[in-house]
Amino acid sequence: MAGARRPGRNFLFVPGPTNVPDRILRAMHVPMEDHRSPDFPKLTIPLFEDMKKSFQTKEGQVIIFPSSGTGAWESALTNTRSPGDKLLAPRFGQFSHLWIELARRHGLDVVVQEEEWGAGADPDRIEEALRADKNHEIKGILVVHNETATGVTSDVAAVRRAMDAAGHPALLYVDGVSSIGSIDFRFDEWGVDLAIAGSQKGMMLPAGLGIVCASPKALAQMDAAQCTRAYFNLADHFKANAGGYFPYTPALPLLYGLRESLAMMFEEGLENIFARHHTLASGTRAAVDAWGLSLCAKAPQWQSDTVSAIMVPEGFNGADVIDRAYRRYNLALGAGLSEVAGKLFRIGHLGDLNELMLLGAIAGAEMSMRDVGIEVEPGSGVAAAQEYFRNAMGAAEQRL
Ligand code: PLP
Repeated sequence: MAGARRPGRNFLFVPGPTNVPDRILRAMHVPMEDHRSPDFPKLTIPLFEDMKKSFQTKEGQVIIFPSSGTGAWESALTNTRSPGDKLLAPRFGQFSHLWIELARRHGLDVVVQEEEWGAGADPDRIEEALRADKNHEIKGILVVHNETATGVTSDVAAVRRAMDAAGHPALLYVDGVSSIGSIDFRFDEWGVDLAIAGSQKGMMLPAGLGIVCASPKALAQMDAAQCTRAYFNLADHFKANAGGYFPYTPALPLLYGLRESLAMMFEEGLENIFARHHTLASGTRAAVDAWGLSLCAKAPQWQSDTVSAIMVPEGFNGADVIDRAYRRYNLALGAGLSEVAGKLFRIGHLGDLNELMLLGAIAGAEMSMRDVGIEVEPGSGVAAAQEYFRNAMGAAEQRL
């Protein structure tokens, strides 16, 4: 089919990059301009301020730079740590794994707490490790809030409570790449010290911006941190950002896109965005139940509102479902990564999305599964999701 015209929309249901709304596409369609002009700060200063709202912080400082989430991981670590520093990191999926590997490349000594893929960070185990660390050698805890590979959300507030209960001063580093802007994320309330985001998921933009939010406690550790950093040296950013500028040529269209994305998010309201993602995820879960399949998330407490990782039955390969969906139905589903490769497929339900769009993906997944021989009842997932959405929307209207 390569090269052949494929009429209609591509159904993009990987858990990022997500659909870029027309409003944002138009906002990014701008001529280039002088990024050192006296007018430029009129765009950037409010952007830095407004960005804080999506992290739900007043105290944190936000830094935006050209990168993807991986660069934001690196920047958060290298600006606050020195080689040899000890970190504690639960590992329960491909993204927690990659962050740990990146930290090790920078000479950091990561103590890994292995969790089952399908579970998340265990606050009790974290508390135990911190209590045992009498000399406070552990300098930071790395938690992936939403593990995109397995569709698992960890309880960051509970991790903070565990740290406080142990009376431990480590910094709390949280990856919010597939949660911030879609799932409730409370930087100040949860005592997060460094939060990491990227532009291509809940922010509804193309990939290309890495975003870090740093607490006053994290900022205070930056001068002493010895890890090598150059392009991502945040000290350069703070100096330039204070006047509304960047220490290099910024990615202008993405900044204009971010301006529009934040406007759209504030118009909808963060609470409503979180509620919409919960409804979309719950409808997807109703479809999975009706298919008689299970999620990779081991228990309801772990289920993610931005991505569902759906296990295929024994003897089938999730990659075949994804391949069929893509080639035959123009539907992009997320693949199983690393340890769960072939065992599942993922439906991303985040960003600029509504119920009927998602029903298209559920229908396509259902058809693709049947095509490869997985005997789900025709129409069962779609019907279950439809009914869920009808009832949820009816109930929401009655509350108005
Ligand atoms: N963290 C999480 C939870 C992710 O889902 C991803 C990418 O999907 C990353 C980090 C890495 O981000 P990027 O691919 O933007 O570098």
